Amino acid sequence: MDPYRGRFAPSPTGPLHFGSLVAAVGSYLEAKTRGGEWLVRMEDLDPPREQLGAAEAILRTLEACGMEWNGKPMYQSQRAKAYRAALARLEAQGLVYRCACTRREIADSSLSHDGALIYPGTCRNGLAPGKTPRAIRMRVNHELIEFEDAVQGKLSQDLAAEVGDFVLLRADGLYAYQLAVVVDDAEQEITDVVRGADLLDSTPRQIYLQRLLGLRTPRYLHLPAAVNAAGEKLSKQTRAAPVDERDPVPVLAQVMDFLGQAPPAQLGREPLAEFWRWALAHWDAQRIPRQRSLPAP
Ligand code: GLU
Repeated sequence: MDPYRGRFAPSPTGPLHFGSLVAAVGSYLEAKTRGGEWLVRMEDLDPPREQLGAAEAILRTLEACGMEWNGKPMYQSQRAKAYRAALARLEAQGLVYRCACTRREIADSSLSHDGALIYPGTCRNGLAPGKTPRAIRMRVNHELIEFEDAVQGKLSQDLAAEVGDFVLLRADGLYAYQLAVVVDDAEQEITDVVRGADLLDSTPRQIYLQRLLGLRTPRYLHLPAAVNAAGEKLSKQTRAAPVDERDPVPVLAQVMDFLGQAPPAQLGREPLAEFWRWALAHWDAQRIPRQRSLPAP
């Protein structure tokens, strides 16, 4: 068995909030209690969605919370060459095609589980005359992609029916998350992905890409995603409050409670070192609620 290598891969769209802290703490505790390494990767591949200084702020907050990462953080903004090479490998296998469709042209397609449009395959067999290519898409098929998630259980997806041919290179010239995450998890030799269950439905796409790129599939553990009273995932858009760097223990204790670890009532008032002593001694992934989302405190 390879040594455990986990990671936390935030998108620097804003400061760390309760929802992202859940993924950070869950991945950290799982790595540390299995004697593994914990890496950090900044998923800064979508500049229009990013906030200036957010990457530094996230790293500072992780440090203030007492979470140390191994090695240097990887930055997706510096990885275009690797993404281009992966895309070229897929292209050489005839697995990708250029797509000229605008958002409006596919707006009446049916919706996938995560609310994205299922591409109807308009450009699959070539562009209509006079059309200019915009994006590059990955061809999918009806082969069932199955995997066992450590918390959410067995999952399977028919990509052609449930997702459709998905974008690898966007019309704005940016590489898509699905491609970048697969290339970088392999580059960082990640053995175990622990992240929010909002990404559960993306996992079969990632496994599909791993197989076609000849990359190893890591084990997956999807934590319940923290949602607000309206059932929306906590994010910058839903104005989730940033983690207080000067006093992180109360929110760290709330994360332990959220993850089903039944912390003692006074844990939120302990010094940081005592919090981690308790958390490392008591962490039990079996107790994580087997749900895709849960209300944040
Ligand atoms: N960057 C993604 C996010 O912040 C997480 C990606 C992943 O863990 O695979 O939602």
